[in-house]
Amino acid sequence: MRWKEQLLKLKPYQPGKSINEVKRQYGLSEIVKLASNENPFGSSDKVRSEITGFTGKFSVYPDGYATDLRARLAEHLDVKQEQLILGNGSDEIIQMISRGLLSPETNTVMAAPTFPQYRHNGIIEGCEIKEIPLVDGAHDLESMAEAIDLNTAVVWLCSPNNPTGIYIKEEELIAFLSRVPSDVLVVLDEAYFEYVTADDFHDSLRLLEQYKNVIVLRTFSKIYGLASFRVGYGIAHEETIAALEPVREPFNVNTLAQVAAIAALDDKEFIERCIQENTAGLKQFYQFCDGAGLKYYQSQGNFILIDFAADGQEVFQFLLERGYIVRSGKALGFPTCVRITIGSREQNAGVIEKIKEYLQIATAVSN
Ligand SMILES: *Cc1c(COP(=O)(O)O)cnc(C)c1O
Repeated sequence: MRWKEQLLKLKPYQPGKSINEVKRQYGLSEIVKLASNENPFGSSDKVRSEITGFTGKFSVYPDGYATDLRARLAEHLDVKQEQLILGNGSDEIIQMISRGLLSPETNTVMAAPTFPQYRHNGIIEGCEIKEIPLVDGAHDLESMAEAIDLNTAVVWLCSPNNPTGIYIKEEELIAFLSRVPSDVLVVLDEAYFEYVTADDFHDSLRLLEQYKNVIVLRTFSKIYGLASFRVGYGIAHEETIAALEPVREPFNVNTLAQVAAIAALDDKEFIERCIQENTAGLKQFYQFCDGAGLKYYQSQGNFILIDFAADGQEVFQFLLERGYIVRSGKALGFPTCVRITIGSREQNAGVIEKIKEYLQIATAVSN
């Protein structure tokens, strides 16, 4: 068959290890998964009660315009309803943008390492990928601006960046946007937006009036704890959204997902609590790393990238065998690191204990 040539060398997404698989393999009864930046506190109770009490018909197609969720989101964000596009996760919006703008005649600019789906979708569309190395875990906006040429169609910014957790300061973002030609779409992926506590983080929605070429991506998968439902959204100038809409599949956000997302937006206390717990959890890791002399990246997300100055895969395996699934830095472009999702305080303390064991053994071996 005549598959696109680039598909032949593209690997499908490798999901992290499943809890049951690890339990069986290592004979463990308890497993803590801190690998996919899922919310350790689950989701709001309001979501469960709405889903349990759902009386709608399964035989009817979803509301293709997600009318109620759209209205609720527009109110929540203080934007017009026409400024929103909903997706089956923000992953799908990344796909829509790629499908709508990228082709073999174009190129796309992104940081490296960053969220892999930008590159993956760019490759499928056959465009040239221009990857600009991070500097100390941060986007090198100067070099990214220089990389833009007449064929550039999309620039991807991830802030806070996955996997480093480093964010772009508002001032730097504005300076960057002022240099980007108005026909180049800038995607600002804010999957961890709700966790951010930095004062100088970008107020990106305020910029959309001025910059029609910016689209902000957010998701219900992270702090809202609804990863299984797959709901994400894009926010942009209404003309930009109108241009992208034809790419969207008609019924891309399913009915229960719409119900769940509305319920999640209604529980502000749950979100407040998760932010506080996450900030406290990050501090737990910082204190430990500072004491142990481990280098790490200051994170504004719900994860931390720790540099062990050793084989990250080995650290990953050590923790896995002791009941903690984390993410090896190897596949993330940081071979000496592991990325750990911030868990509950108890989970954090648990994985920190195991890391201490690892460090003791590692030092004993090297002495
Ligand atoms: C998790 C994540 C996403 C994907 O979110 P979904 O809405 O679940 O598709 C997008 N971007 C970044 C940076 C992420 O970390």
